[in-house]
Amino acid sequence: MKLLQPDVVLGGNVFCLTPALIGHYGLKGLVLDIDDTIVPVKTTEVSEQLVTWLAEMRQECQIWLVTNNPHKQRISTIAQSLDLPYIMSAAKPSVRKLQVAVDDMGLPYSQVAMVGDRVFTDVLGGNRLGLLTILAQPISATASSFHLLRRIEFKLAKLSGVSLVATNLP
Ligand SMILES: [Mg+2]
Repeated sequence: MKLLQPDVVLGGNVFCLTPALIGHYGLKGLVLDIDDTIVPVKTTEVSEQLVTWLAEMRQECQIWLVTNNPHKQRISTIAQSLDLPYIMSAAKPSVRKLQVAVDDMGLPYSQVAMVGDRVFTDVLGGNRLGLLTILAQPISATASSFHLLRRIEFKLAKLSGVSLVATNLP
């Protein structure tokens, strides 16, 4: 149950993750989920807001993209347009590929956060590895194929005693 608990629950999408929050938690690295965290599912274009936000984050942190998505063309296009290293088919909550990304950063795990929109993949995987876990609301209000699944996951997590109330942020 403890492994499902995000350390930080953002009140909105990933853009609520600010340099102040990065500083507050002493973060030097971010592992970002892709689908519904930084781009809507099935979207390949990256938004201007995402590019601007990443430029700001890059000044504070090393960044890797780690997704369970296996679609090479779409994922590599997104990663290349953002100029970020990536791992696909990561099978989160397995820690194996998350670990590859974090080890590449050469940082203590305590200085790296896993940022994602899913409790049973992103949060569970991040917690298993000992990263700070940050749960973001989905980037798009549009219902994705994961929408129902996410709602079921949230219900299950809450039933397990996990709090998904937005954290008061610095
Ligand atoms: Mg996702």
